[in-house]
Amino acid sequence: MMTIELNSRQERILEIVKENGPITGESIAEKLNLTRATLRPDLAILTMSGYLEARPRVGYFYTGKTGTHLLSDKIKKLLVKDFHSIPVVVNENTSVYDAICTMFLEDVGTLFVVDNRSLLVGVLSRKDLLRASIGQQELNSIPVNIIMTRMPNVTYCRREDLIVDSAEMLIEKQIDALPVVKESEDGLEVIGRLTKTNMTKILVNLANDDII
Ligand code: ADP
Repeated sequence: MMTIELNSRQERILEIVKENGPITGESIAEKLNLTRATLRPDLAILTMSGYLEARPRVGYFYTGKTGTHLLSDKIKKLLVKDFHSIPVVVNENTSVYDAICTMFLEDVGTLFVVDNRSLLVGVLSRKDLLRASIGQQELNSIPVNIIMTRMPNVTYCRREDLIVDSAEMLIEKQIDALPVVKESEDGLEVIGRLTKTNMTKILVNLANDDII
């Protein structure tokens, strides 16, 4: 589904269908003194973008949806799998010092912590690492599993989840990122990272009409 700027002919078609629908393409063309063939691209655009619906042997009718409705319909259908980033993971025995280095080198704000079977056991944020650093501890000898937020308190999402639901979790839990996981019998495998930056990019793409 697309959100588009309608041209004046398309606006006129909408008016005609609103007043007369259901109405055939032939009758719309007659009212506009145009041929059916000339109207075909406009009708295709109006149908694809959700303003009109076409029923075989009945004709076109107005769906009642405005541009705002269509945009919110579009947003509500976005899925995590189309927007998440690559995850950066560290083993639970990694030192806090090495985790800080990984965070800088990988240029991320959240690290996911896994056990020796590569299953999710925790999350590390920038502030978790800062908090550990301002104590007197020896950062090389403290493993991250001492300071991380651990399972079952980790909030996560799946590839098939809706972006809107995941965005609500980020807001509600006041966190910057969710691990995208695949559930197996043994636990959760980390397959992605969904962040507030991903959400910001979605907003910009929607504004530029890059999301169809
Ligand atoms: P920061 O602490 O750098 O502001 P966050 O707001 O993401 O970053 O993290 C706040 C706290 O929430 C941290 O203690 C972190 O471990 C925890 N946290 C971050 N992401 C998650 C998550 N997906 N599930 C549960 N806890 C999380």
